[in-house]
Amino acid sequence: MKQATSLIHSQTPQHDPYAASAPPIYQTSTFVQEGAGINGPYDYSRSGNPTRTLVEDKIAHLEGGCDAFAFSSGMAAITAVTRLLCAGDEIVAGDDLYGGSCRLLSTILPQFGIKVHYADTTSLESFAAALTDKTRMVLLETPSNPFQKISDIEQIAALSHEVGALLVVDNTLMTPLLQKPLQYGADLVVHSATKYLSGHSDVTAGVVVAKDPALAARIGFVQNAEGAGLAPMSAWLLLRGIKTLSLRLERQQQNATALAHFLQTQPGVTDVFFPGLKTHPGAEVHDKQASGAGAVISFRVKDEALASHVVAMTRLFQTSVSFGSVCSLISLPSTMSHASIPEGESQKQSIPQQVVRLSVGIEDLEDLVADLEQAFASAEVSAHEGLTEALCSEGGREPVGAAVLGLGLVTQPVVELGRDLF
Ligand SMILES: *Cc1c(COP(=O)(O)O)cnc(C)c1O
Repeated sequence: MKQATSLIHSQTPQHDPYAASAPPIYQTSTFVQEGAGINGPYDYSRSGNPTRTLVEDKIAHLEGGCDAFAFSSGMAAITAVTRLLCAGDEIVAGDDLYGGSCRLLSTILPQFGIKVHYADTTSLESFAAALTDKTRMVLLETPSNPFQKISDIEQIAALSHEVGALLVVDNTLMTPLLQKPLQYGADLVVHSATKYLSGHSDVTAGVVVAKDPALAARIGFVQNAEGAGLAPMSAWLLLRGIKTLSLRLERQQQNATALAHFLQTQPGVTDVFFPGLKTHPGAEVHDKQASGAGAVISFRVKDEALASHVVAMTRLFQTSVSFGSVCSLISLPSTMSHASIPEGESQKQSIPQQVVRLSVGIEDLEDLVADLEQAFASAEVSAHEGLTEALCSEGGREPVGAAVLGLGLVTQPVVELGRDLF
């Protein structure tokens, strides 16, 4: 069965007496046992629930892993993975990591005697230099976010295994449809299923996929012992979202590729970070290990004011953290998704405020282009005339409480909105 087919089929539990087309939601905390000490497949939903099992099996299958475990969020999934470490162990992480992961590694793990080193995993020399005889785990994202830096999974896996460390790949940005890290030597894959896997911004979930039964048993133990397993209703929403993953990604990637080229033509845009561009650093490595570029684009503009202006003025691109939704989103990572990177953190690259991130949805491409076009064009107008009115012409958004600074561009509301949202 091809992936697009298996996404839709094999969703019904075996032994359903009514052969429901959609999987039932087993909204129950307990399962009645035939007698004391006689255990059925399920006894308590923290330990296991049939609706959760369906989604876990589906994702394990997609990633080519032996088993998967669904958690209440991506962070809960990543936390569970770090429970495999002990005091004195070290973790080496990519230096362009999701802000929440960086916060976990830098502020929570040290409380348990686990030390983190950040390394540029796009360079094997820099990566190897960060490994020590205490390194027990490596965590990376490829492409990373927001800079879309590409790491070679196969080579990093080989170097990690040489020192006896597990390689964990956060595959959120790609999904198993575009990249299967276990095939390239990763030991564990983690996902924020809140993003593409569910796809509709309506559920928070995370997944850990293990390559072998020994690792699976350890993660399963943590899931049960710590109690952050995904609830049945959320598991069901995730199952429903996954059915359309292939179709969504197809349209999202088409739109994203066109928009990446469009952005390159916009005055004021200095860099476009998107692995679908032939000129993107690491595009060759990416094409070796992934079958698509995904649909998140970051770009840098000439100054902070223009970045804030574009984010404030787009109408279809909603200002929101997160990505992977059917609906297009726009954000300033420096003040939104990555604002949680602790101050002075050793992540080499702090996120400049001129960087804008787009999560491209499934809307009609023409509408998306028109939306970005008007946002850039109004920046030109206001830069020339310094008029606030230009920002709200033709029924545009009111720049509520906006401080119109410098070149007449709106900067204030976006920044404040970002902090509130986070
Ligand atoms: C969002 C995200 C997470 C965290 O997932 P939550 O579901 O928000 O807890 C982890 N890694 C990446 C790459 C993410 O984008």
